Amino acid sequence: MPIALYPGSFDPIHNGHIDIAERAARLFERVVVAVYDSPSSKHLLFSTDERVALATASLSHITNAQVMAYRGLTVDIAHEIGATAIVRGLRATSDYEYESQLALTNKALAPDLDAVMLITNLRYAYLSASILKEVAALGGDISRWTPPMVREALLKRYEKL
Ligand code: ADP
Repeated sequence: MPIALYPGSFDPIHNGHIDIAERAARLFERVVVAVYDSPSSKHLLFSTDERVALATASLSHITNAQVMAYRGLTVDIAHEIGATAIVRGLRATSDYEYESQLALTNKALAPDLDAVMLITNLRYAYLSASILKEVAALGGDISRWTPPMVREALLKRYEKL
């Protein structure tokens, strides 16, 4: 039964991520959304526990999806959970360069795993967690891009509530 790992920072999860998780859940028997504990290149707004809680609540409608935190190599956690594929979302062609580099690195580390790239839903093609945070911090309306609990968490963090 094919299992997919969908890894990322999810700081915080937004509708673009949720759309990818929903579509992956239709392609695979089970999807494990893995929240990366401490990406070295990113300054995170939410703790790992907070990001896991927001992702868990936002994906509760997907019966064959679960959320977990992880640290270390993505390929190691993929092996641990018995995944055969690593799912990623692709927005613009600019994502492609980084994602293909990542996929080729993972392939070199773990030849048994395949990367599955899902093209973004056109509605969320321009959406990123960093832009979402910037709009929230400046008091803009982010309700079309997030579930209500994520919006509230962002507004609280920026003290707009
Ligand atoms: P990273 O893994 O670089 O920290 P994120 O946590 O922001 O990235 O996103 C996790 C995955 O979701 C990545 O594959 C990313 O390309 C994808 N993703 C992010 N935003 C969108 C979006 N708007 N539409 C589709 N996929 C997205």
